[in-house]
Amino acid sequence: MRIVVVGAGLGGLAVALRLQGAGHEVTVVDRRERPGGRAYQLRDAGYTWDMGPSLITMPWTLEETFAAAGLDLHREVTLRRLDPLYRIRWADDERELDFTSDRDRLREGIAGFSSRDATALDGFLAAVKPIYEQGILAAGRQPFLRARDLAALLPTMLRLGAATGLHRFVARHFEHPRIREAFSFHSLFIGGDPFRVPAIYAALVYLQVLDGGWYAEGGTYSLVEAMARPLEVRCGAAVERIERASDRRGGAGRVTGVVLAGGERIGADVVVSNADVLSTHELLGRRPPLRRLRPTMSCYLLFLGTDRPQRKLLHHTLLLGRDYRETIAGVTRGKTLPRELSTYVHAPSRTEPAMAAPGGDSIYALLPVPNLSAPIDWEREARPLRDRLVADYERSFGLEGLEESIVVEHQMTPEDFRSELGAVLGNAFAVEPTLHQSAYFRQPNRDRSVAGLYYVGGGTHPGAGVPGVVLGAEVTAKLIEEDRARAPLAA
Ligand SMILES: Cc1cc2nc3c(=O)[nH]c(=O)nc-3n(C[C@H](O)[C@H](O)[C@H](O)COP(=O)(O)OP(=O)(O)OC[C@H]3O[C@@H](n4cnc5c(N)ncnc54)[C@H](O)[C@@H]3O)c2cc1C
Repeated sequence: MRIVVVGAGLGGLAVALRLQGAGHEVTVVDRRERPGGRAYQLRDAGYTWDMGPSLITMPWTLEETFAAAGLDLHREVTLRRLDPLYRIRWADDERELDFTSDRDRLREGIAGFSSRDATALDGFLAAVKPIYEQGILAAGRQPFLRARDLAALLPTMLRLGAATGLHRFVARHFEHPRIREAFSFHSLFIGGDPFRVPAIYAALVYLQVLDGGWYAEGGTYSLVEAMARPLEVRCGAAVERIERASDRRGGAGRVTGVVLAGGERIGADVVVSNADVLSTHELLGRRPPLRRLRPTMSCYLLFLGTDRPQRKLLHHTLLLGRDYRETIAGVTRGKTLPRELSTYVHAPSRTEPAMAAPGGDSIYALLPVPNLSAPIDWEREARPLRDRLVADYERSFGLEGLEESIVVEHQMTPEDFRSELGAVLGNAFAVEPTLHQSAYFRQPNRDRSVAGLYYVGGGTHPGAGVPGVVLGAEVTAKLIEEDRARAPLAA
């Protein structure tokens, strides 16, 4: 079959590898100058920054994707295991917690905050293990096309407590506020408020303890390059319309190809959209269901190249400001910039010095901020926010001399998420992973009305994050194959 994949994000590349591996003729088109989507790369003055994902988890999902295309991930990319995975520091606390997959060391770290919580670690992991196995592993690999698929899973999830709020679930096991934060913040990195998303996402902690966290040498972009290498990827090719032929029964028709900006038409039997799911509705001439599928918050990203290393930063460091709960609520539901700044910081030259100019650091800071439904004037606000962030790093987190060590810098605002990636409302992580926007309620991997149209990426099932979109690519590729086997002429 001729297949066009719209978007060369990690999900788009993963589905293309699988479909090409299955013998189809696949073309990937992307509106940007290079592939990668949110996993883009920035280089300047001897510094290299990943602009999105930096921590690789569940590397076996990538191994399987490469294998489906007849490739060996470990020949293409060098993955290095990180230990500890990240350090968590708080603005108003001298203590810090190193998150490691070595349970004894993790327990010791927790004991620095609460000896009771240290003894609760094993119980917590035991409670999360079946949620990981059934809620992430099993459910993440199957499509939720019918309500009854969800109904079949729900009793198990209810029994395991996975449908309650994530933070509440964690609080049942741990009593110290810092430890509760340390074991529940993870959903923020797929756009979910830990106080609102289901405890199914507690499994994100479990998979880190089980599988560890990894760094791709050269940055995550080396993974993008390795995935794009065997594929036909056409960049600078924005799809303006998904074309379809109407069927005789007056239904929504079936896809016949895509039309690019400029008018070029690429014919296809199947179109897989890796573009923002909401904007895909626009490509079909439909109104995006903004109420049913709420986009996540956005991010302000600051990329700094410095002439000296910041020793207080590990490869991955989480710097949490005061008022954690209020900040998260403000970022996900509010309309103004956060007063207290909680950020994630990536400093890969700890592991690979060549990511920075000699003797320096390449630092990338991720600050969650409201999406563009908030009336924030980014032209005006970005610079003061940047100044506030750097000053806060120096004052609250002891990153001394940071300002004067900066040699080169760049930033990315929610406006850039919108203009560069076509992200509706400048969302950073597709649509929110709340219970009523997950599984059956999320955008399904196969369009409900247009034949031959499928979805892959953060906005469809199972959701955002590198393992999420890569698992989703498996689900989508399987659906395409199954549909073709069932109706060879129609699919
Ligand atoms: C700042 C940040 C940090 C993150 N950190 C991590 C992390 O450490 N670990 C992790 O696992 N996950 C992380 N994530 C999440 C992860 O990066 C994403 O979920 C994942 O990369 C999204 O992949 P995707 O397949 O949805 O494609 P996207 O990256 O969303 O790419 C979609 C592509 O479609 C293209 N496109 C859109 N519209 C059109 C059109 N009309 N025509 C042609 N092309 C189009 C876009 O240009 C883009 O290239 C992070 C995300 C962000 C934003």
